[in-house]
Amino acid sequence: MDARHNQNKRDPGRPGTYRGRFAPSPTGPLHFGSLLAATGSFLQARSNRGAWLVRVEDIDPPREVPGAAKNQLETLASFGMFSDEPVVYQSRSSALHESALERLRACGLAFDCACSRRDLPDSGIYPGTCRDSIPPGKTARSVRFRVPSAPVELVDRVFGASSHSLMESCGDFVIRRADGLFAYQLAVVADDIAAGITEIVRGHDLLDSSPRQQLLFQALDAPVPRWLHLPLVVDTGGNKLSKSSGADPVQRARPAGALAVVLQALGHRPPAGLRSLESLWSWAIDHWNPERIPTEPFEI
Ligand code: GLU
Repeated sequence: MDARHNQNKRDPGRPGTYRGRFAPSPTGPLHFGSLLAATGSFLQARSNRGAWLVRVEDIDPPREVPGAAKNQLETLASFGMFSDEPVVYQSRSSALHESALERLRACGLAFDCACSRRDLPDSGIYPGTCRDSIPPGKTARSVRFRVPSAPVELVDRVFGASSHSLMESCGDFVIRRADGLFAYQLAVVADDIAAGITEIVRGHDLLDSSPRQQLLFQALDAPVPRWLHLPLVVDTGGNKLSKSSGADPVQRARPAGALAVVLQALGHRPPAGLRSLESLWSWAIDHWNPERIPTEPFEI
């Protein structure tokens, strides 16, 4: 393994210091899958007597939908979910992202790359072209993170342990894009470090990003949070719901009914007599057990 990588640092956080978050990108209204992630992260924070924070990941203006962030926060409010600290807007944290990038450069883990998508093989896996230097006649476009040859070992509370060879699955990955924007992988880690997040609870679709993020936490000399990925929510055709592709928005008018279904998707069966939002939340906080979360996709 490259000596610059330090994979051993793990500090799951002491009881009472739990800090979790929900971090939606404002690319459309919240759908059932986002509500599941919000609820799972909220219940983990509440049952650990910790803080639950909301961060609006408005770091990618081309994908942003005007008014979506406000709409998402209103939806959370209609379910009784409020950030315990002021809502953070990722677009205002570029100084944090910049300083994380500079630290990675300083320890030799970030490098300039001149390749465009067209220069990559069909697999999309970065072959290491600019790892040592930019080929003559080319100019820097993006910045990449140097992945180690050793696999990344990930432990997820729901999906268990897994081993990921990033050299084989993606290669050195982009942390600053050619358009100058910070990539999701770097921004999310810099912001989670700044917020002192101790556990990351989110949808299974992001499990694939976690090995890259674990490397970034370690490279930035920060404790790696615990990982807890929630089952994917799919439509009847088996497709993942997506905010940007117009999945049905969460209906705010009947939050208790929607919350009861979310709890079922998370492996919890509230008694049929509980009809109000308050009674469902208090039952859910008392009975929450992450061991019950299923791994199979939930069909809606
Ligand atoms: N912003 C991401 C999304 O809306 C989630 C990021 C995360 O939870 O790490 O899909």
